[in-house]
Amino acid sequence: MLKGIAVSKGISIGKAHILDRSKLCILKQVIDSKNIDREVIRFRTAVEQTKKQMQETKKKASRIASKYSIILDTYTLLLDDDILVKDTINKIQKEKVNAEWAITETLNKSLLLFDNINDDYLKGKRDDLELVVHGVIKNLLGHSQNSLADIQNPVILITHTLNPSDTISIPRQYVLGLATEVGGKTSHVGIFASALGIPSVVGIKSLTEKINTGDQLIIDGINGHIITNPTQKTLERYKKKQLEHKKYEEKLLIDIERPTVTNDGFRVKLMANIESTHEIKSLKKFGAEGVGLYRTEFLYLSSPTLPTESDLYDNFKKAVQEITPRPITIRTLDIGMDKQLAFFESNEEDNPALGLRGIRMSLANPEHFTLQLRAILRASLHGEVKIMYPMISDLREIIEANSILNKIKIDMREKQIPFDENIEIGVMIETPSAAICCDQILEEVDFISIGTNDLIQYLLAVDRMNEQVAHLYQPYNPAILRTLKNIFDNAQAVGKKVSICGEIGGDPLATLFLLGLGNLDTLSMDPHSIPHVKKIINQSSIKDAKQFTKQLLKLNSTDEINCFLIDEMRKRYPLDFQESQI
Ligand code: PEP
Ligand code: MG
Repeated sequence: MLKGIAVSKGISIGKAHILDRSKLCILKQVIDSKNIDREVIRFRTAVEQTKKQMQETKKKASRIASKYSIILDTYTLLLDDDILVKDTINKIQKEKVNAEWAITETLNKSLLLFDNINDDYLKGKRDDLELVVHGVIKNLLGHSQNSLADIQNPVILITHTLNPSDTISIPRQYVLGLATEVGGKTSHVGIFASALGIPSVVGIKSLTEKINTGDQLIIDGINGHIITNPTQKTLERYKKKQLEHKKYEEKLLIDIERPTVTNDGFRVKLMANIESTHEIKSLKKFGAEGVGLYRTEFLYLSSPTLPTESDLYDNFKKAVQEITPRPITIRTLDIGMDKQLAFFESNEEDNPALGLRGIRMSLANPEHFTLQLRAILRASLHGEVKIMYPMISDLREIIEANSILNKIKIDMREKQIPFDENIEIGVMIETPSAAICCDQILEEVDFISIGTNDLIQYLLAVDRMNEQVAHLYQPYNPAILRTLKNIFDNAQAVGKKVSICGEIGGDPLATLFLLGLGNLDTLSMDPHSIPHVKKIINQSSIKDAKQFTKQLLKLNSTDEINCFLIDEMRKRYPLDFQESQI
């Protein structure tokens, strides 16, 4: 059993497919003893083929630059290197693994030798070695990269990580489950997997080395485990668990259209977080009352060129028309940190999470920000649209963004381009400074929505993407609960309600606490979580919630809070918080 972090609920059972994009994307396979010689020949052929290609390139290169042809000679020499070739063959024979895997392992071992070298010339050799090995692997695979589109059968995807553009190309019908080495509770792999309803576990160290393609696997996305090659008894147990979970989820969907209201009459709106317009069709099924957060970044990540105003308008209009008469909040581009775009110039940043991301990136690229805002304004004519700025850390950013927005509105009025004159403007509260000053912020905007994913990262100084510190990423740390309480109180003081669109909003364990903060307006979440949260709210009373929250806020440690949450929620809602559902 391998332990990780559960990011998308459910159980999946199937065969592993290793996709290792961080390195050279190779599948590890165990070779039958009788096929070992054939594998060695395959490897030798690929080496010879690579040498030939190098020589051909050399011929072409020598016409252009003689210096370059000398470099290619050194590459060829590397392939004559006894160590690289011999070690790989030894590995194939001893460990009975495929050639791609064996040469990668040899490469990794050789690269370790370069780690402590300070000489630039020798360091350059490190890259040469990688390049040459890559050439051999390309020939072994017959193509340069093992791509997600190659998956043609239902599998459980095992990978180091998936960048957002890989994530969006997941062939949903073939990916039963997903597990990665990298990532934390709120990494975008998790958010996306959850949106697609793919049971997933992330943050399992050296996962790709522990599993072989073809291994039978169970992904327990409820408890955050993977079980490799289970016994028949375990398999049966999980099949039963899988069925129970499915039944429970189906039951939640019955009567999903009824309003979300506590039994003493407090109404809460439950909305969906989406990453693409394709998700809108399924929102009704989960009872979403609208889209509380449209993350527009994925629109850019899936496009080979920077979207034009017309591309953006078409996309937003489609989203608005499909969701109408329900509202949609479109977040302006939140690029940076884990989602980088080649279209905008950005220097390598030492701390991308603290760098040019969100509204900062938009204000640094006002031409594109203008296109985005114009596209949203034009789309606002087709339904109820709200605009939301991400990553606000200073009031001035809102004033500057609004000033750009106002200029656009004036221009559109002059040109008689219609838009919703009453369009609401809001911001995400996801930095400590915004949390502290949210009452001032509320004077500049119509609404605020708390992005707890980033707020936790910045308040606790824990990178939400880094699995090494994933154990410190604790949503129910007392500092987080107190900060939420302060935001709600500050908003209350100026007569405003508060929305939440971070993952906490979709965690049923937190529902009663959030209700008890008093002036909750909307919880926006992964649509799959809506039915569960709805069920909790419909069984609660605001009076009890306030009492519960008061008690919770008195606790001193994360452990105490977690235990209190689990115990008390189990007591109140035994069917919804059984051991296997938390
Ligand atoms: C958040 O930070 O809580 C949030 C909702 O935004 P994202 O996860 O896209 O950063
Ligand atoms: Mg955020």
